[in-house]
Amino acid sequence: MVMYHYVQNSFGLRGMTRQSFLEHVLFLKSRYTMVSMSESLTSPTNANTCVLTFDDGLKDAVETVLPILMDLKVPAVFFVPTSVLEKEEVLHVQKRHLLLASIGTEKLVEELNARLPSELEITPDPACKADYLDDLLTCTLKWMLDYLDQDIMKPVLDDVFAKYLGDERQIFGKLYLSASDIVSLKDEGMEIGVHGHSHRQLGPLTYREQGMELEKAKEIMIPLIGKQPLLMSYPSGSYSPLTIRLLRKFGYRAAATISKHINSPETSEFELGRYDCVDITPSGS
Ligand SMILES: [Zn+2]
Repeated sequence: MVMYHYVQNSFGLRGMTRQSFLEHVLFLKSRYTMVSMSESLTSPTNANTCVLTFDDGLKDAVETVLPILMDLKVPAVFFVPTSVLEKEEVLHVQKRHLLLASIGTEKLVEELNARLPSELEITPDPACKADYLDDLLTCTLKWMLDYLDQDIMKPVLDDVFAKYLGDERQIFGKLYLSASDIVSLKDEGMEIGVHGHSHRQLGPLTYREQGMELEKAKEIMIPLIGKQPLLMSYPSGSYSPLTIRLLRKFGYRAAATISKHINSPETSEFELGRYDCVDITPSGS
């Protein structure tokens, strides 16, 4: 299973170009049987299959990805954080990506620090340990954005966002899929899954809070896809044993994590592994 985010995005976000995406899919198609996520759940155990997944409900899906997939007859699943279908508000995660692309880590940290109370100042902190892509300051920044109480962080981030990127409603329509885009994707045979409602990390939330997120997502998605959503991708890969209980209760069939592993019949259907597209380098064969 392979995870994509931005493809030929017009905001200068870290992502693939149309050409590199095309090469990527051609490469995968030459090596694997490309199947939908639902098909992968019932594939024979020895099947050499690959599933393409797209997170965050981004507009790139209809503008760049869909024409290529249709051309190559490759299925995929698109995971949508349903709040983008409810209100014109750029998600926290995209605010971070857009700000980092526009002003870089150091300037963003400086702007946030100027607005945060001094005890919450963002400085390189080994407790927010680095992952392989980021330096310690970026890790600390991401950690603070993800875990600091939203009533403290949101107004601060919104203020910096408005200063550098202007009115988020202007950006919103170009950034996310609309309800009719989702219907188009579905009509072309693509699968639609849920990526939480507000893209909050589910793992640290209580059973009731997670239940509200998933209930809301289901409520918004059913009229668009005509049935109960069956597939989920955990926002930021975060989930807990309670999340899986809730997904089972709500009738989901499977969920994708961001843990990098190949899935086998022994893998729990609610803990499916995915490789990030940047981990796969097409090579001449
Ligand atoms: Zn996401």
